[in-house]
Amino acid sequence: MTELAPATGATLLSVVPAAGDRRRHPAPAHLRFFHGPMDCGKSTLALQVDHNQSRQGRRGLLLTQGDRSAQPQISSRVGLCREALEVQAGTDLRLLVRDHWAAGHRVDYLIVDEAQFLTAVQVDQLAELVDESHVDVYAFGLTTDFRARLFPGTQRLLEVADDVQRIQVEVLCWCGLPGLLNARVVDGEMVREGATVVVADTAPTPAPDADDDVHYQVLCRRHHVLGQLGPTAAGPGQLALR
Ligand SMILES: [Zn+2]
Repeated sequence: MTELAPATGATLLSVVPAAGDRRRHPAPAHLRFFHGPMDCGKSTLALQVDHNQSRQGRRGLLLTQGDRSAQPQISSRVGLCREALEVQAGTDLRLLVRDHWAAGHRVDYLIVDEAQFLTAVQVDQLAELVDESHVDVYAFGLTTDFRARLFPGTQRLLEVADDVQRIQVEVLCWCGLPGLLNARVVDGEMVREGATVVVADTAPTPAPDADDDVHYQVLCRRHHVLGQLGPTAAGPGQLALR
């Protein structure tokens, strides 16, 4: 029996990291995903999270794709705005962070807006940054496209994120029920076919020279199924803020 004791001790040592190892690593990081329909306040929340993190002395990178302002920035309909890096479909997010480290900049966290546009590979790169480099990731994105199907980036985030939250700011359909789904409206008609990604705002496009007026409207499930946009094109379901 006495001979077994050292062996048991050795087994325990091999599975429990030494105290020094734990001190060397920062607290575990997380991949958090916040999602909802258009107008639910995702970008506002993204900027709020960035503000809170930076007040703690942490340094972050803001990433986006196809922000409504068509500039590399995160802008929210309530008027907040911050410069961001534009991500392309082929961007390796691990290299992007390592390049910043190589240039001498700290990156403690990433804010990723429009995360629905990420590829599955890029979402896995974010997970790797969390697990191997202890970078906290806060991703914000739309749940479904105008056909009421998950975006690829959203699907992968739902699969691998540590924490998933549906954003609780209630967006209302014109009928007063909670709006869950995004309708694409072309020349006043809801459409169900076309490219998955057409960047437009929820207010009608003002450009008089544009061929088509493309915008989005948030509807409840029933009115999305029926394709009913409400009594008037600029009715109460529209968000007029710009
Ligand atoms: Zn409705």
